[in-house]
Amino acid sequence: MYLGDYIEIDREIRPFEFECSSVSTGTPFHARVDEDKRDLFLDTTWISEHPSACRFLRPSGERIVCTVHETSAPQCKFYRCVVFRVYSPERKFLGTVTGTLALHTDNLELQSVWEKGERLIPWDSPDAEDRIAAYLIENGYIPE
Ligand code: SF4
Repeated sequence: MYLGDYIEIDREIRPFEFECSSVSTGTPFHARVDEDKRDLFLDTTWISEHPSACRFLRPSGERIVCTVHETSAPQCKFYRCVVFRVYSPERKFLGTVTGTLALHTDNLELQSVWEKGERLIPWDSPDAEDRIAAYLIENGYIPE
């Protein structure tokens, strides 16, 4: 909500694609609005009322979502406190996964599955988040 001063849009290079920079580090990144969030992005009502918010944030139902989730800056992934929550097949809440891809849980079974996953999935690969979510699903968990 308050990263508007840290994520700067330098220019729009084509519809839904932007050259941006992370102000704190000066790191450039290329942001593309996720295909399934383009309608949300085009509605600028909320963002024009929140000048401190990152220009890519939009409300979606009761949540506020990043519309460039797939291409957001590495710093965003680091700062995001929760990437997804993990539930049992019975939808019991078991733990959270943070932006640095760390699991927080008291559930020993999930912890053990997670540790096995750490040996199987290269944690620094660009699609690590998707692969971890797929791995959890394969093992009967629900990441959301
Ligand atoms: S995660 Fe998305 S909405 Fe949040 S600061 Fe980064 S680009 Fe902006």
